[in-house]
Amino acid sequence: MTIFSNYPDSDGFFGDYGGQYVSETLMPLITELNELFHNEIASPDFHQELAYYREHYIGRPSPLYHARRLSDYCGGAAIYFKRDELNHTGSHKINNCIGQILLARKMGKSRIIAETGAGQHGVATATVCALFGLSCTVYMGAKDIERQKANVYRMRLLGATVIPVSAGTATLKDAMNEALRDWVTHVDSTYYLIGTAAGPHPYPKMVRTFQAIIGDEVKTQSMARFGRLPDTLVACIGGGSNAIGLFSPFLDEPDVALIGVEAAGKGLETGEHAASLSKGSFGILHGNSTYIIQDSQGQIGHTHSISAGLDYPGIGPEHSFLNDKKRVYYDSCTDADALAAFQLCAQYEGIIPALEPSHALGFVLRYAPQKPTDHIIVMNLCGRGDKDIHTVAEALNITLV
Ligand SMILES: *Cc1c(COP(=O)(O)O)cnc(C)c1O
Repeated sequence: MTIFSNYPDSDGFFGDYGGQYVSETLMPLITELNELFHNEIASPDFHQELAYYREHYIGRPSPLYHARRLSDYCGGAAIYFKRDELNHTGSHKINNCIGQILLARKMGKSRIIAETGAGQHGVATATVCALFGLSCTVYMGAKDIERQKANVYRMRLLGATVIPVSAGTATLKDAMNEALRDWVTHVDSTYYLIGTAAGPHPYPKMVRTFQAIIGDEVKTQSMARFGRLPDTLVACIGGGSNAIGLFSPFLDEPDVALIGVEAAGKGLETGEHAASLSKGSFGILHGNSTYIIQDSQGQIGHTHSISAGLDYPGIGPEHSFLNDKKRVYYDSCTDADALAAFQLCAQYEGIIPALEPSHALGFVLRYAPQKPTDHIIVMNLCGRGDKDIHTVAEALNITLV
């Protein structure tokens, strides 16, 4: 039997996936980071520091909320939301940023760089840089800047420099390439704060560790509330950080079903989607091997999702491994179904979700009716939808006054 908590191995591999595919220039730095990270997570002082910021700055623990009206609407399983949209800055991204910024400070770095898609990671990074007085540069695709203007302005207000990236498809993968290029040229002063569970080892493990607070809290809250673990956990997948954060404390609990939901865009058969596991193949991207969307020559393929945060042609290496091992089941949700779920959540629960977790909810709305009423589903409501109202209004042909 596979013991999932034993992964990754010391070289950063989850089975065939992961590793450290970076230039020689970066090797000393990621080696140093790897050692520091492992020392710090073994240190009670570091955990105390982390716990302080989680409670007093992020606002954790986040509630586990019974979505009664949506559960009644589905007429099956009880649907619970893990309310990570209530975190400071409006998504789960800050869980990871707080952890990594503490490490960057210990490494004596004065300059932080990051990539961002929907802008949530950029905002969270700019926030923790302001908190600790560090310089912040965020790379963002020109197309994403256009569709996430409010977050761009938020980053600038927080004192960050936002650099538009027009190369390629002008989205998240291009921003990540630019950030990697910047890092190689400024290794001594600069820390690269990666926003998802991807990149060279130790990033996937590090991001998982900092996001695992989501699943740890769900475990504690479920035991207190139900006297048992939930039956099913559901999360959306961009690079996979909120999902692995929710799943990882449950990987070695075989009775808990784990479901990751990718963006099916206009449909898996249209070529207009971002479903790296369902439709991708083995390759190397951003310093790790994993499933990616690519053509027969290995060129990164075109992706599409209504949600900028899911519009990424790769997926964190651990998810590729969990898919191979069939420990996590991966499904998908289209733009149209996510939009319908977004509206339903607003009108039935009084919660405007981000478009990313609306994909998870789109799946839950299909799944819950097939389950009995004593079946407990916990879905990660990993972000709030304020940033998405313009995108949604446009998709629904509504003119904002
Ligand atoms: C960034 C983001 C995502 C996608 O990233 P993961 O690493 O897959 O979690 C999903 N939801 C929200 C709200 C985000 O901001």
